[in-house]
Amino acid sequence: MKTQTDVLIVGAGPTGLALAVALQQAGIDHLIIDRLAAGLNLSRAGVVHAHTLEMLEALGVVPAMLAEGIAMARFGVRDRRHRLLAVDFSHLPSRYPFALMIPQYATEHILAERLEALGGTVHRKVEALDIKQDRHGVTVRVAGPAGERDIRARYVVGGDGMRSEVRAASAIAFEGGRYEESFVLADVSLAAPPQDSEVALYFAPAGMVVFAPLPEGRYRVVATHATGGENPDRAAIQHLLDTRGPEGGAPVVTEVHWSSTFRVHHRVADRYRDGRLLVMGDAAHVHSPAGGQGMNTGLVDAVVLADRLARVVGHGESETLLDDYGAMRRPAAVAVLALAGRLTKLALVRGRAPRTLRNLLLRTLGRMPWFRRKLAMQLSGLARREFAEVSGLPAMRKKEGAGWRLAA
Ligand SMILES: Cc1cc2nc3c(=O)[nH]c(=O)nc-3n(C[C@H](O)[C@H](O)[C@H](O)COP(=O)(O)OP(=O)(O)OC[C@H]3O[C@@H](n4cnc5c(N)ncnc54)[C@H](O)[C@@H]3O)c2cc1C
Repeated sequence: MKTQTDVLIVGAGPTGLALAVALQQAGIDHLIIDRLAAGLNLSRAGVVHAHTLEMLEALGVVPAMLAEGIAMARFGVRDRRHRLLAVDFSHLPSRYPFALMIPQYATEHILAERLEALGGTVHRKVEALDIKQDRHGVTVRVAGPAGERDIRARYVVGGDGMRSEVRAASAIAFEGGRYEESFVLADVSLAAPPQDSEVALYFAPAGMVVFAPLPEGRYRVVATHATGGENPDRAAIQHLLDTRGPEGGAPVVTEVHWSSTFRVHHRVADRYRDGRLLVMGDAAHVHSPAGGQGMNTGLVDAVVLADRLARVVGHGESETLLDDYGAMRRPAAVAVLALAGRLTKLALVRGRAPRTLRNLLLRTLGRMPWFRRKLAMQLSGLARREFAEVSGLPAMRKKEGAGWRLAA
């Protein structure tokens, strides 16, 4: 592993990998490290939205993602008996008029394979311990298989998640709070797949549950108010579906492949750059999983940052472009936090009368085409295109044909 580089990326989650692919493609000298021996291989983010796919085109990974994922054109909100609201993605003004259901490990795997195919390498089992910047660069103390050493970089990017070391070493504040409620997430197999082919969100008196198809015949279940401990078992997930899913006809869970219970923070970095230190992805913003926006926002951060870094490092343009990255992406995160916050609030409404009122409101709004269109634009990320302009450098301009097919 070299000890001098233009850009050191700390963290090889989805955002770190995306940035490394883009820099490798643009011929920018960089190094990417991760303290883990291998990718986490966890399901986590289950959806990639239209705007993210548009942005990822430049990285040459979209055909592989489309081949692996399931394109869903509809998102439905229901109480236990009736549909309250249906959002149709099929009319989105995009080459990708759908939500692509694909587990996070598959997205990470495709990005890692692309990096390797381009000749790049993730240096694993290498942890950033200490990060100090001066006027001319950044010195990062790392511990790896060959012991401790210093890496000197012109810029260091934190793609190192919510508890970012890079952010901690900077003067960037991460203001916000934590939701009281826990969330449960599980990938399951069912005895018989449901008839409806849509991402379904149920607002039941007992709480909220989301139910969505994933590749390989699996289904994603997301719910508030976790029961069943750290890793809810089959009985706990079945109970969630029985008490919150379609009345009298909840699907039968035959196997739980992965499950997790987690608390959710809502925080956003007050700026994305402090001198030579930059943050992206969960290091810059975290929020509730409602709307499936977390990883999507991070991936767009990575593509926009790659564009600015390529211009500054590779083309000698002004460093102020790096401030432009934050000025452009922070408002997108603020908008996403507001969207996820509104959806979470709706999901957490308690009491019979407020719930009835919420459902009535959703049913009324659901009859209005302008509202359905607006929600589709927000969920797909297309409403935030203005916060993701890239310059059109050759590395960012590559377009791919859309080879998708909607789920039956
Ligand atoms: C249980 C769970 C469920 C989720 N569900 C959804 C969902 O449904 N939809 C959605 O959009 N998002 C979801 N998310 C969020 C999504 O997983 C994140 O937004 C996404 O992983 C962020 O990517 P990232 O690259 O910014 O950071 P991460 O994926 O957190 O990756 C950070 C990487 O940095 C490495 N690292 C950290 N510190 C160091 C260090 N000092 N030195 C070296 N390496 C370091 C870590 O090992 C890790 O590999 C979920 C998250 C969790 C935990």
